[in-house]
Amino acid sequence: MTKILVVSEHLDGKLNASTARAVSAAAAVSAAAIDVLVLSDAPEGVAADAARISGVSKVLTVTRPQNAHALAAVLAPQIARAADGYTHVFVPSTTFGKDIAPRVAALLGVSQVSDVMSVEGAHRFKRPIYAGNAIVTVDVDPATVVVATIRTASWPAAPTGGSATVEALSLDVPLPSHTRFVSLQQGRSDRPDLQGAAKVVSGGRGVGSKENFEVIYKFADKLGAAVGASRAAVDAGYVPNEMQVGQTGKIIAPELYIAIGISGAIQHLTGIKDAGTIVAINKDAEAPIFEIADIGLVGDLFKILPELEAALG
Ligand code: FAD
Repeated sequence: MTKILVVSEHLDGKLNASTARAVSAAAAVSAAAIDVLVLSDAPEGVAADAARISGVSKVLTVTRPQNAHALAAVLAPQIARAADGYTHVFVPSTTFGKDIAPRVAALLGVSQVSDVMSVEGAHRFKRPIYAGNAIVTVDVDPATVVVATIRTASWPAAPTGGSATVEALSLDVPLPSHTRFVSLQQGRSDRPDLQGAAKVVSGGRGVGSKENFEVIYKFADKLGAAVGASRAAVDAGYVPNEMQVGQTGKIIAPELYIAIGISGAIQHLTGIKDAGTIVAINKDAEAPIFEIADIGLVGDLFKILPELEAALG
């Protein structure tokens, strides 16, 4: 019987929306038995949130002081043990999931399926390759457990409204001593999270400098949007790496994506393939971004943005 274990992602006691997206992918395999695993030093709040996701049968919590931080080396052996009896282990294809899933797959002696964008059967999946230019169908040996990362941009979040039971799991798994938590450095922002935001405003090399990027932040704040960037803007030091959108950055699916001073390289477009409406502002009318944009504004961003802001009131 198909039994799916979804590994939850959480930070500071809050469940990340990527978990509910992974549950949607699990439901496409089989709605029969979907359990969510919460590894934490204090899992109660996260477990309660996970229990409210529709379609979840059971939330399993593993409480250990070492689980206070998401260290792949520490979490993976516990996930591999918890996977006992499951046919599938699904992890969101976020930085967290991409760190953890390969270790889990290696511990279980299977190959990982990456970036599942559609489920064709319990052991057949579709995933993008070559920066999204081709879609490949992957078959997994039904005799082995499926360890897969779920491309969050391809799946809607499963709605809330569930009332799963919460069960404590006791795992007697020795943890490695070679890896320990030292510190976490993360960008602090009051803006919406880039990966889950409904609106995203991104700036590229055309913005010109770190100082100039203030116009992007200001415009985004006016719209209540998250802020992203192209790799060129990151490499030039205008913004931190965590804001990068694209093949080697974040894959996002906002309802509205506004690309400002971004040419539209294929590696950038890979990250916004699933966006709803794409707006591009670029002074070069031949820029490739206009080929995929729903709305294009040709002109100098430093002239257009103040006009748009004024129009927004
Ligand atoms: P550019 O291509 O230099 O474009 C700048 C644009 O700004 C131009 O179109 C210009 O007309 C416009 N402009 C300039 N001044 C103004 C102005 N005043 N007003 C309006 N418009 C203006 N890139 C990513 O973004 N994400 C990735 O994840 C990523 N991964 C990669 C992985 C690999 C393996 C490789 C090889 C590349 C990757 N890249 C990625 C890089 C990608 O190929 C491009 O180099 C990058 O996206 C270009 O960024 P850009 O559009 O900001 O810069």
